[in-house]
Amino acid sequence: MPSPSAQTIHWFRRDLRILDNPSLHHAAASADSVLPVYILSDWKQNHVWTGPKRQAFLCKSLESLAKNLETLEGRLIIRCGSADEELEKLIKESGAKSLSFNRDPDPFGREMEARVEKMAKRLGVECIGFHDVTLHTPQEVLTQDGKPYRVFTPYSKNWLTLPKPEPLPKPKALNTPQGIKSLDLPANAHWKLPEPEGCEILEGGERAALQRLKTAVSSRIKNYKDLRDSPAVPGTSRLGQDLRFGLLSPRTIYRRVMEAGGGEGPDTFVKELAWREFYMAILWHYPQVLENEFNDDWHGLWWAEPDANFEAWKEGRTGFPIVDAGIRELLTTGFMHNRLRMITAMFLTKDLHVDWRLGEQFFLQHLVDGEIASNNGGWQWSAGTGADAAPYFRIQNPWSQAKRHDPEGTYIKRWVPELKDVPVDRLMEPPKDGRPIAKGYPLPCVDHHEERDRTLAIFKKHREGK
Ligand code: FAD
Repeated sequence: MPSPSAQTIHWFRRDLRILDNPSLHHAAASADSVLPVYILSDWKQNHVWTGPKRQAFLCKSLESLAKNLETLEGRLIIRCGSADEELEKLIKESGAKSLSFNRDPDPFGREMEARVEKMAKRLGVECIGFHDVTLHTPQEVLTQDGKPYRVFTPYSKNWLTLPKPEPLPKPKALNTPQGIKSLDLPANAHWKLPEPEGCEILEGGERAALQRLKTAVSSRIKNYKDLRDSPAVPGTSRLGQDLRFGLLSPRTIYRRVMEAGGGEGPDTFVKELAWREFYMAILWHYPQVLENEFNDDWHGLWWAEPDANFEAWKEGRTGFPIVDAGIRELLTTGFMHNRLRMITAMFLTKDLHVDWRLGEQFFLQHLVDGEIASNNGGWQWSAGTGADAAPYFRIQNPWSQAKRHDPEGTYIKRWVPELKDVPVDRLMEPPKDGRPIAKGYPLPCVDHHEERDRTLAIFKKHREGK
């Protein structure tokens, strides 16, 4: 066994991979043996910001990570509790003289990092945090005055011109010492959550993510610009959860997309990676967006008390086929197509007048790719309150959105099977005869035009009252 002074700890967080992992790479290069550790949250913590589908994906990804580490003579150590306390115990047990991790830019991740750094300092242990989650840090992409951008287009212009970092290879060997205690790999029961029975969740783990990247690069990204808004076809990459859990690094994705050749598809795709980093930069510079509207003008805006219509929205039973299809896709798969995220979010905030914060939380409980920065950005965009958001008076009509983005009704019929025999035109407009379009399917819960006018009045009144 190598001497304790040659041991280091790599703390896995949202970087569950061995390829292009800056902290793991550093750990393997700087010590004789590496203790790779993942620290589970305790079930007693409030888990309203996640749910069975995302936790099940995490469990599968940890299982796959443990196997991958074995190929490097490593052994994943699982602990549970507060990261600073658990890492302190591990340092004391192993005698490790250093610790490294990849930084997590959200406010909760940053707070824990600060505690870990303080603990390491107290123990006299070297502690290094690496940048990992984005191609560019929030501090790298600033206006000429050194200020954060508040609007996407100038942000993305700057972001696109910056040279992009290259991926690192996987480490050669980790040589994890024997005898370090570890909990078993978790299942959802660890958090007292049910298994997501009957849900069609994507396979977790780095290998499955690399396969998805291969599929995206070989067959989806070329036509991404034309197909990304058609939910009935597999036109987007489906890499959201892989970025969320760090099964793939943004550097690897960027490099593979560039190697496959340029064009409008890859250009549009890369801009979406920039949207992801824009929202992460917004959350970094303005963490208050998790509580409040990004745009001060809309602080204190009136929202309706959530009622039976909110429950109907959550179940995919609003009587608006396109909205219901989106929610049911989410409930069944833990994924919802981006176009549908916009339609369902705008419907909740503008047709049902429900506070975006409630929709934001519901999405995080169901999305496997639930990412607090992008989700907050997407919800505030839809509500008209966010950074570079849709102006409040631009309210999408769910009926015409269906006509435009699902003209054959294929997506709707896939997710709302009771509508499979309904003629397509009846899926795209409110029933003229006032009767349900299919047995057991509800009538539209509201009149879109009336609710649109109501929203305009609410926003105008708020602005006039300022
Ligand atoms: P692709 O279209 O293939 O895009 C590639 C990657 O770019 C995505 O995986 C994602 O990382 C990023 N990306 C794409 N579009 C956006 C966007 N508009 N904003 C930020 N990043 C983007 N994305 C999340 O990753 N997690 C969330 O919790 C989330 N919540 C959202 C909530 C709402 C209300 C809205 C409108 C959007 C939300 N998005 C979220 C953004 C987007 O819908 C998803 O990233 C996308 O649907 C994931 O599918 P994909 O991997 O096939 O995306």
